[in-house]
Amino acid sequence: MTSLHTRHIKPLILAGLDGKNWHLADYVARGGYAQLRRILSDKITPEQVIAELKASSLRGRGGAGFPTGLKWSFMPRQFPGQKYLVCNSDEGEPGTFKDRDIMRYNPHALIEGMAIGAYAMGITVGYNYIHGEIWADYERFEEAIEEARAAGMLGDRIAGSDFTFQLHAFHGYGAYICGEETALLESLEGKKGQPRFKPPFPASFGLYGKPTTINNTETFAAVPFVFAMGGEAYAGLGKPNNGGTKIFSVSGDVAKPGNYEVPMGTPFATLLELAGGMRDGKKIKAVIPGGSSMPVLTGDVMMATDMDYDSIAKAGSMLGSGAVIVMDETRCMVKSLLRLSYFYYEESCGQCTPCREGTGWLYRMVHRIEHGQGRPEDLDLLNSVADNIQGRTICALGDAAAMPVRAMIKNFREEFEYHIEHKHCLVPAYI
Ligand code: SF4
Repeated sequence: MTSLHTRHIKPLILAGLDGKNWHLADYVARGGYAQLRRILSDKITPEQVIAELKASSLRGRGGAGFPTGLKWSFMPRQFPGQKYLVCNSDEGEPGTFKDRDIMRYNPHALIEGMAIGAYAMGITVGYNYIHGEIWADYERFEEAIEEARAAGMLGDRIAGSDFTFQLHAFHGYGAYICGEETALLESLEGKKGQPRFKPPFPASFGLYGKPTTINNTETFAAVPFVFAMGGEAYAGLGKPNNGGTKIFSVSGDVAKPGNYEVPMGTPFATLLELAGGMRDGKKIKAVIPGGSSMPVLTGDVMMATDMDYDSIAKAGSMLGSGAVIVMDETRCMVKSLLRLSYFYYEESCGQCTPCREGTGWLYRMVHRIEHGQGRPEDLDLLNSVADNIQGRTICALGDAAAMPVRAMIKNFREEFEYHIEHKHCLVPAYI
């Protein structure tokens, strides 16, 4: 079981959770569903709900970091047919394990957040698409939906109002690419999970061709806390343009891997300290700050960086989903890149040529460097192939495969050159 660590800095979504107190009664005792009830009973208008969310500067927690209030405002409320709300719980990025903990430990926060979103956008039907490899959390979420229905927090006439919202859990099939929102929609429609060309975007042509808003699990789970605190107070927890708290899945060579919820803008050094510091007192070498598809940074750069969208971007990477993979001095960067390259090669849906062919080329080139058959020209060739993938594909998986390659070579070139020249690893532990 993933451990929850909440000391030092007060969390919101993960506060006071012990693995047993996930039921509706526990959530209500913590103040749960009060915001949905208040919005409905006080007849707070959808426009006011969206304005509060905009004031919170909550940004999408799935990776893109798009302002949530703005996204909600794109929904054409007056559209004369069915509209849909979809939660993206297809958490498959290597290093990311926060959404499953939200569904396991605090599923009602997600349900309340979705219900508030549905109210704000005039939507009556929603789905939570849950990654196919996490069965127990899917069952937990199903149970939570049943509890919410029985308590009148889902279904018809929620909390005695005239607002209706039917929410369903959907168990996916385990493909990484279904975390891409349009592939998710295809899969939800019962088709092969492959990304769609955009535009049109889901806000106008989404599930079954109807207007659809898709947000990440953590984004929805944060919504009740935005309303409990007020948008401005929530924004004030973080930095300007980077509001609230964020759950970071810290893994790799740290003493206490796990999910840590801290205010946006918390220094990486503080997050590392929360995670128990480096395992066995080893020296930090590299960090992938936002999930395996994001560019790797050196340990020195990370130790001087704060954990928010803008600071990580300034340092040369992206916050992504908040999966922080920490590597110590014994890690071989060639071997690390080999694993990453294999993942993207395996997970390419095969729809576009640069990604389908290029991910295989990247993997095979890194494989030969790792196994002592690299050639001096391979590093330039790797960069060239990455250049020819990035920005030339239907979805972001192509970029996700290319960015780690370029960043690894840029930041750790001497290790790759050593591998090629000496046909073995620079790091003593691997010789
Ligand atoms: Fe499929 Fe890759 Fe093209 Fe995305 S970039 S649509 S995963 S082939």
